[in-house]
Amino acid sequence: MSKIRRVAFELKEYEFEEPFRITGWVHNQAKNIEITLELENGAIGKGEASYSYRVNGEMISALLAMQDDVEEMLKGMDVKNYRKIFNVIDGFSRTAPSLKAGVQFAVLDALSVEIDLPVYQILGGATNKIKTDKTVGIDEMEKMVEKAKKLYYTQGFETLKIKVGENLKEDIEKITAISEATKGASYIVDANQGYSPKEAIQFAKAAYDNGVNIVVFEQPTMWNNHDGLKLIRENSPFPIAADESAKSKYDVFELVKNGCVDFVNIKLMKSGISDALAIVELAKTVDIGLMIGCMSESSLGINQSVHFAAGTGAFLYHDLDSHLLLKEEKFRGKFTQNGQEISL
Ligand code: MN
Repeated sequence: MSKIRRVAFELKEYEFEEPFRITGWVHNQAKNIEITLELENGAIGKGEASYSYRVNGEMISALLAMQDDVEEMLKGMDVKNYRKIFNVIDGFSRTAPSLKAGVQFAVLDALSVEIDLPVYQILGGATNKIKTDKTVGIDEMEKMVEKAKKLYYTQGFETLKIKVGENLKEDIEKITAISEATKGASYIVDANQGYSPKEAIQFAKAAYDNGVNIVVFEQPTMWNNHDGLKLIRENSPFPIAADESAKSKYDVFELVKNGCVDFVNIKLMKSGISDALAIVELAKTVDIGLMIGCMSESSLGINQSVHFAAGTGAFLYHDLDSHLLLKEEKFRGKFTQNGQEISL
């Protein structure tokens, strides 16, 4: 029987290899919830919730406390009817989106074991190969340039994600220096809401004048400032992406309807699998670009986004590198990785 018998949450703590700094925040440690879902026939599905107070307003203690309620809601439901389970879990969209993501994936993972078909093929099997970028956090200019060179020349990452947003003048100097030191690379620049709309436009124009190859300029201004995002989009030579502004499918609908974005950064931890699927279809319908990102997932959680991205084949850019930034005892993805190349 492919009915759910048990749901268990376990707190897992990971240290970052080095402090990871973005606008207004430094991450030293990740606390994730590992989700185990057991079927009546003993098959096990695994998922991970990498919660975010910053983006989702989630608290880890509150999420952990939901274990028994989630089990009660899902007990006896059949993973072969996974849309029914997704609909139940959709109720957590506003209060516990990362948990929604991890539980929804665990359902697909258990189904995958049950029918012996990888999750990416359950989701459509659009491709079995993707490429990820790797991120350079905010640091002194020399250190950011060195890190970028190492990632581009030594580790072979063709797309680098560069964090900015704390100091406009320094950021322009940094991105220009990185661009000159890693010629040929593409850059996803992420300000994590750090600029005013005017600063964001200044940044984009200066980077463009300095010949920096920015393929996506992510979340330049505050998540709730849709008018600001629109203004930036209309005045930036580079495509503008929403990340913190784009959590649910409803957010993305509003952003698209009002002409605020060229790109959306889907993260399963903001949207779960169900809203992420809806956003993929919406983006295809209105022809906006998609990238997929992460919070602080371990390889277990990154596995979820790898299967989602390959299954849907919907993403121009993959920013799935958090597992490469964490100290982790053992790799647990159901994929193989060689530098930027990920294969299923
Ligand atoms: Mn971002």
